[in-house]
Order: sequence, then structure tokens, then C-alpha cells
Amino acid sequence: MVRCVSRIIEAEEGETYDIELAEDLLKANRDLARENWALLKKHGIQAIDVMGSVGTGKTSLIEQIVQKLRGKYRIAAIAGDLTTTIDADLIASHGAAVIQINTGKECHLDANLVRKALQKIDLRKVDLIFIENVGNLICPAEFPLGSDKRIVVISLTEGPHLVIKHPFIFMEADIVVINKMDVADALGVNVDKLVSDVHRVNSNARVVKVSCKMGTGILDVINALDLK
Ligand code: MG
Ligand code: ZN
Repeated sequence: MVRCVSRIIEAEEGETYDIELAEDLLKANRDLARENWALLKKHGIQAIDVMGSVGTGKTSLIEQIVQKLRGKYRIAAIAGDLTTTIDADLIASHGAAVIQINTGKECHLDANLVRKALQKIDLRKVDLIFIENVGNLICPAEFPLGSDKRIVVISLTEGPHLVIKHPFIFMEADIVVINKMDVADALGVNVDKLVSDVHRVNSNARVVKVSCKMGTGILDVINALDLK
């Protein structure tokens, strides 16, 4: 017999401490995101926000894309991380100009931090900017940064219920990358189910199956981004 949890505790409306704060903050963030977007457009720059949990392959995906596109576009990256520069260093090793944002205890990037990073980039010399968000499937969804497209990277190692447990971030996604396809058979993951879960929350999302390790599916991501 399957036992289900019978009592679920949820915050009542107005009960959560930071509600009013959050409303103002989210509005301020949206306004700044629009300014970032306008600034990027003025310089003819496309920006792509890459979200997803820690260890799913956000950095690896950006590295792979940079390797494929570096002769065609002048590429910069903004790497958000709590304290380290590991990801920024990796991306920079492929020739992209990288600005690191250390968020300290903040678990997401916001439009203000991205604005500050953009001030450190010579925007006249850039065509394409990748923004690697902090590894987290929850709050980045609520903080648009001013990018043209948002990618969510998920990994087959994250379990079968990942999408339905975090619907909001998938609603925000233009592209969902399913990474680590090379271990699909070994893990026995039902990839079709993951794809249909994504489409149930966001029927417009493009889902691309990738193995950053094997380098497969990268051109499909580039294609989904309307890049060449
Ligand atoms: Mg990373
Ligand atoms: Zn956060």
C-alpha cells in the first residue's frame, strides 16, 4: 500500500516575512532588467542566461558553445558564483572575456549585479554574452536579468521528478537542455518522461538532449538559440 503525506504545511498569504520586501524588490529588478536589455540592444548584443542546479553542466555547456562559436562571434561571459572563480576560469580558457560576480550568500544573480558586470565589459567589442547564473532551480526564475533567452540545464543525475518539483523555472525557459545523455542507459532514466514534463509546464520550450562530455547536441543548442 502506498502511503501519502496527508498534511502539507504551506504559508498563508501575507504570512511569509519577506512578502512586501519581495514585491518591491522584484519590481525594481524587472525595471533594471529592461534597462539591461535596452543597453544590450543598443550595442547589438544577444545575451543568454544559463540557469540550473549545481553540477548539471552550465559551465560545460557554455564552454562547448564558446568553442564552436568563438571564430564567428565576439563572446563575453558573466559567471555568477557564491565565492569561487572556478567556472569563470574555465570559460575564460576558451578565449571569452569573463567577468566574475561573487554573490556571497545570494543564491541567484539579479539585474543590478548584471548591470554592474556589463559596466566592466567593453560592449562595443562584444556580440554575444553568456550569463551563468548561480546553481539553483528556484529563485533565478523570479529575477530576469535582461537576457534575450533563458536556458535551463538539467542533468539526468538529478532524478525523475526534477521538472514537476520546480515548475516555475521551466515556465521561464526558452530552451531546456537535458545534459549527461551519455549516462542515460546506465541510469535507466526515462528521458521521454522528462521531456513531456517540461512540455506540460511550458509547451513553447525547446528541449535539447546533450552530452557536454561527448560534445553531442551542442549544435542543436546553438540552432535553438538562433545562432549559427
Ligand atoms: Mg558552473
Ligand atoms: Zn536566490
